[in-house]
Amino acid sequence: MSIEQTLLLIKPDGLLKSLTGNILTGLSRTKLIIVGAKVVRVSKELAEKHYEHLKDKPFFNELIRYLMGELHQTNRVVAFVYQGENAIKKIRDIVGDTNPENANPVSIRGAYGRITTAGVFENVVHASSSMENAEHEIKLWFQPNELVEDLYPTKEVTITQKKEIVWA
Ligand code: UDP
Ligand code: MG
Repeated sequence: MSIEQTLLLIKPDGLLKSLTGNILTGLSRTKLIIVGAKVVRVSKELAEKHYEHLKDKPFFNELIRYLMGELHQTNRVVAFVYQGENAIKKIRDIVGDTNPENANPVSIRGAYGRITTAGVFENVVHASSSMENAEHEIKLWFQPNELVEDLYPTKEVTITQKKEIVWA
């Protein structure tokens, strides 16, 4: 048994369909703990980095628009990091198969996902698929100080002339 972390995203269709509470209730059965959570405005750059491994697929452009919320009149996703024994498999089991048509009907994707006429699987949530994948994705979506556990090695850097948005 190994302690793992995994990234869980509630995608724009999950938010539009008001499924956040339902999804979190379903995932609470795993008894995993949440070590990071936030609402994220998804830039094109972030979406493209997240799905970089699919950039040669015919559905890539539509997939990027999907994650950015352009298909669901929103511009955000909700991101969580779950931690615990076998977290990756436990979460993926409840999330279900990538293709909502093949997914177990009582899984999140089986119950709430759909395939659009444009050919994209609108499958409500994203969940990391391996430990390497999880580390890559968690580092993409979260900074070290946004997590309540020290998951990966960090370093200190001094940033000069950094522009930041503050309250006016
Ligand atoms: N996807 C799609 N059509 C496909 C395969 C994938 O629309 O034939 C979308 C779907 O939204 C999926 C995402 O691309 O969740 C990432 O694909 P991946 O193979 O990584 O599946 P996942 O890890 O999300 O189950
Ligand atoms: Mg994947």
